[in-house]
Amino acid sequence: MFSRMGTDFCKRLAVALLAAGALAACSRAPAPEEIEVAGWRLSVVLPAGADAASARKVVSLAARAACATVPEAGEGTARIVFGKDLGILPHWAAPRPVAVQEGDEIRVGYRTDDPAATANRLAHELAHWRLEKLCGGRTALWLDEGLAQVAGRTAANEAARCFSLDVSERLSLPWKQGVAALVAATAYPAGRDESGAFYAASLRLADAFLARHGLDDCLALAKELAAAPAAETFFAFCAARYCESADEIAAWLSAAPR
Ligand SMILES: [Zn+2]
Repeated sequence: MFSRMGTDFCKRLAVALLAAGALAACSRAPAPEEIEVAGWRLSVVLPAGADAASARKVVSLAARAACATVPEAGEGTARIVFGKDLGILPHWAAPRPVAVQEGDEIRVGYRTDDPAATANRLAHELAHWRLEKLCGGRTALWLDEGLAQVAGRTAANEAARCFSLDVSERLSLPWKQGVAALVAATAYPAGRDESGAFYAASLRLADAFLARHGLDDCLALAKELAAAPAAETFFAFCAARYCESADEIAAWLSAAPR
């Protein structure tokens, strides 16, 4: 009797374990694969149900754009996890693919109908990752977001070419607070319009600085700002290297093409 009970118990246990195993297998995420781009190793969990070749292409051109924006980034493997709905951003951001970077992991929503937008978001986060590695910490908010958007735009344009798409420019709202307030910002403005204006102004200043002083100087500035994230660091950098005052910076920024 005991042995029969034992056998039944074992059978039930075996069935339960098999069922649990089958459930775990169903819910388990696909295994990551290694993708190497320009000598940079990425661990990628491709989106379930999407065309793997297209997803790999999106990863590859996003990583290339991030490498072009931040060529030196030291050691490390970024892990990319594609998913459908990350559910963390406010409702007004929902129609666009969402991406977040936390340490070495980047989670990104995959839009099969919009690979250019997906490439943009992924390159943006990969540029943040590389910039953080280069600087040994986050740099000033405006330059962090400005350079990430430069990488995102490069990736979106390249994806548009690869996938024969149109890339529509986003409406950029005016930043009325001036350069001093932009370079002093240490937190994202609240609200859709304020946040949109901050991102647009950050891109504009990063673009103008790159056009005027080049990528090497821009990354040297990023390192200095990571060590001392203050408006004074930016103005002191420009004064020491280019003898430019805050007024002169405001003048070349307003003259830069929009
Ligand atoms: Zn960002």
